[in-house]
Parts: sequence; C-alpha cells; structure tokens
Amino acid sequence: MAVTGRDLSVAKEFLIKGELVAIPTETVYGLAGNALNEKAVLSIFEVKNRPAFDPLIIHTDSIEKVAIYVSGIPEKARVLAEKFWPGPLTMLLPKKDIVPDLVTSGLDTVAVRVPNHPLTLALLADLTFPLAAPSANPFGYISPTAPHHVDQQLGNRIPYILDGGECEVGIESTIVGFEHDETIVYRLGGLDINEIESLIGPVVLMPHSTSDPKAPGMLKSHYAPRKPLHLYRRDSMTPGDETTGYLLFDRYLEGADRQFQRLLSPTRDLKEAAHNLFANLRELDGLPVSEIKAELVPSSGLGLAINDRLQRASVPA
Ligand code: AMP
Ligand code: MG
Repeated sequence: MAVTGRDLSVAKEFLIKGELVAIPTETVYGLAGNALNEKAVLSIFEVKNRPAFDPLIIHTDSIEKVAIYVSGIPEKARVLAEKFWPGPLTMLLPKKDIVPDLVTSGLDTVAVRVPNHPLTLALLADLTFPLAAPSANPFGYISPTAPHHVDQQLGNRIPYILDGGECEVGIESTIVGFEHDETIVYRLGGLDINEIESLIGPVVLMPHSTSDPKAPGMLKSHYAPRKPLHLYRRDSMTPGDETTGYLLFDRYLEGADRQFQRLLSPTRDLKEAAHNLFANLRELDGLPVSEIKAELVPSSGLGLAINDRLQRASVPA
C-alpha cells in the first residue's frame, strides 16, 4: 500500500530505484518515474493500463534542463517558456536520442513541461533525470486532483504519494507544438490560449481524433466517470428521476434533489470551476446515482478547456 507523505528524500529514493511515485503539480497529480529508465517508463504504462501509443510528458525544473533532452527550441517556445514556466503549459519539441522511444510512443517530438508546485520543483531540482508523469489515474478515468484520489485508485500499486495538497489549477496542461510557422494547440488546458496568443500571435486548434497516434493527446473519449454522463446547455436541462446526479455551473436546478447536485462555481469564476471540476465529478460518480447530467460552462477562456473535458467525459449524443 502507498504511504502518503511529504518527505522528498523518500520520494527521491524510490525514483532512483526505478519505482513510481505520485507527485503533486498545479494541474493534476502525476504518476512519476525516471524518464530515462525504460523499465520505470514501462511500469507507468502498466500501472495506468495506458496504451503504448499514448506518449508521456517529461517534467524538469528549468528550461536549461529541458535543453538536455531536445535538439532545438524555437524562438516562440522560448518566449512562452520564459513567460509561463513553471506553469500549466506543455510544449512538443524535437527529441534527442537520450529520451527513450517508449516515452514518446515512437514520435520524434517529446512533450516537456516545468510544473508549478514547490514540492515537485524541489524534487526535480534534486534529481539527475527528468520525470515522465502522466496523470495518476487508471487510463480513461477522471484525473486526480488530491492525494486521496490517487490512493483510492492506485494506492495498492505504488509505494509513495507525495502529498502536496489539492491541485490549484485542477485540469491538465495546455499542449502546444510548432510546425513550420504555426503554433498548434493539441490539447486545451490550464493555460488560457488567449494568453498564448497575446504573446506570440494566433494559434491553430487541432481537432480530436479517436486513435490517431500523431495526435495522441486528442483521444475523444477520456476523463470519464463510470456513470454515463450526458451534457446539456442550461436552458435545455430538465430534472431527471431520483437517481440522477447533476454537475452545474453556478446555480442549483429546481425540482431536483440538492444532495445530488454539485456547483462548479457559484460566483461564475472559470478558474474556480476548473479547480472543482474533477473532484466534483468524482463525488457524483461515488453517489447512488445511475446517470450524471452536466451543464456546459461559458465557452471562453478556461471554459473552453472545461467544456472539452466534459465533452470527452460524456456519452456521445
Ligand atoms: P497526461 O500526461 O495523462 O495528461 O497525458 C499527456 C498527453 O500528452 C497525452 O494524452 C499525449 O497524447 C500528449 N502527448 C505527449 N507527447 C506527445 C507528442 N510527442 N505528440 C503529441 N501529443 C503528445
Ligand atoms: Mg491523463
């Protein structure tokens, strides 16, 4: 069983031995292993039951260390790194041979990020290797945003959970790549794309695919609770029967049981909504309900990323 604690030297020791440790980040908890150790990377895929075609993000504590693992950093990437790292931005950069193909699922780019969490930054600063770390949940399920979420699902498969409290941002990083002159957004996430655009100009949004390994971050069905989730605009949402749960933006639904309702942000704050999204979904999934009705949030800024997660968590209409 996993021990949950705040001891960096314990985490470091497990990682050096090639074992896996759950680490806090500002986005979601990560299932971390030595990215340069193929056995450790393989066990990440095994523990998560993640298909080998879905590549991993590697984490370091500085752009200088990123430069050890990539063969070039375009000017736009430098500008973004300067402004948004540490932070919820992942960049796809050309990989060096030192990064195992297993990490990138055979792609010639590697996803890199400097996460913004003091414990994990201190851990990364103390390691001689980067950490490969996908979200610390079974593949396809809701991402963990608190240590007990990790413990519930992977606690019997890893030795240590580094306790950094609740994740502040609450949804995964925004992923961007650079092709020719274009900046391509592969996944909407915790960094608002308006912020990226105001710095480096317009970006192109990559559509989702069901299985295309060229754009693996884009799997259509993901982040899903076990109960079927149906998505509505608020004006077309009506109460279901007494076994329906509700994920709502800012106000309760009249005519339905309040104990089965969760609000993302009573003050209509999209940051707060993102922070609460996965924890609320998990709670609803754990209630005695047979389906979840969820409301789309306003589709601007972080709302785009929230709606993206809701869409991928939902049963196709
Ligand atoms: P997770 O760590 O669970 O948030 O997932 C990381 C996401 O990054 C995955 O869904 C991958 O598809 C995506 N990703 C990682 N590396 C690459 C890459 N080289 N090209 C495209 N997408 C990538
Ligand atoms: Mg994930």
